[in-house]
Amino acid sequence: MLSTNKIMISKKISTKIAYIAAICAAINIAAITKTPTANAASLSIANAGFEEPIIGEGEFTTNVLPGWTLYDPSNLTSASIGVGEPIYGAYNPTADVYFNEAPEGNNVGYVYLTYPPGSGAVGISQTLTSLLTANTKYTLQVEIANIPPVNGFTILDGFPGYAIQLLAGGTLLTQDFNSLSIIEGAFVTSTISFITSANNPNLGQALEIRLLNILESDGIEINFDNVKLDATPIPEPASILGITFGFVGASLALKKRKMIRQ
Ligand code: CA
Repeated sequence: MLSTNKIMISKKISTKIAYIAAICAAINIAAITKTPTANAASLSIANAGFEEPIIGEGEFTTNVLPGWTLYDPSNLTSASIGVGEPIYGAYNPTADVYFNEAPEGNNVGYVYLTYPPGSGAVGISQTLTSLLTANTKYTLQVEIANIPPVNGFTILDGFPGYAIQLLAGGTLLTQDFNSLSIIEGAFVTSTISFITSANNPNLGQALEIRLLNILESDGIEINFDNVKLDATPIPEPASILGITFGFVGASLALKKRKMIRQ
């Protein structure tokens, strides 16, 4: 049976533990809530909304897209491009293609591949001037559309599948490999994130964005728009450890006091 004195000491210790736990929780919540807004920066992407060049309603460019280059690792498109067939470019969709036309501005980007499923992935790529930095959260966001078979273009039926990739120094950091289901005529937003550690082997390498048509299913064309890449510094792991050790230290101190009083 506990004596009255011991019960009082026990109550005091419980109250103090609760008080310290509340302070620690508040510190942790403050650290967590502060993270997403800490100096978030939008990294510069050339022609991120595919508004260059300016083209008329319903028009498109043929393999001309300022800021972006063709990504075709298996050289699938060389013969088609040689005869002037459209593979990639800017496209200004009308309201009968997409109800709201382009999600941003007037144009979207396109990757158009008339090859059977399984032929390989082809897309557009841009290497940024921004370099991969330690202790940073990168968030890449892209609008992706499934172009409908309008105006008798039944060839546009179906959807070949897409991939959105973030790289540094040619190494894939993270990707959305066709995870979203996109119905005909719809745009959806793909969002992927990557957090760099202090010792990521690609620190200092140039970031790269790839938007791919992966030819996984029957379908030919994918449209993209409004590419955004944010970089947000995150707290050093040392400061998080500092808070944790602070909490452990306070608990140990209380236990020690309790042992002395008993
Ligand atoms: Ca646009």
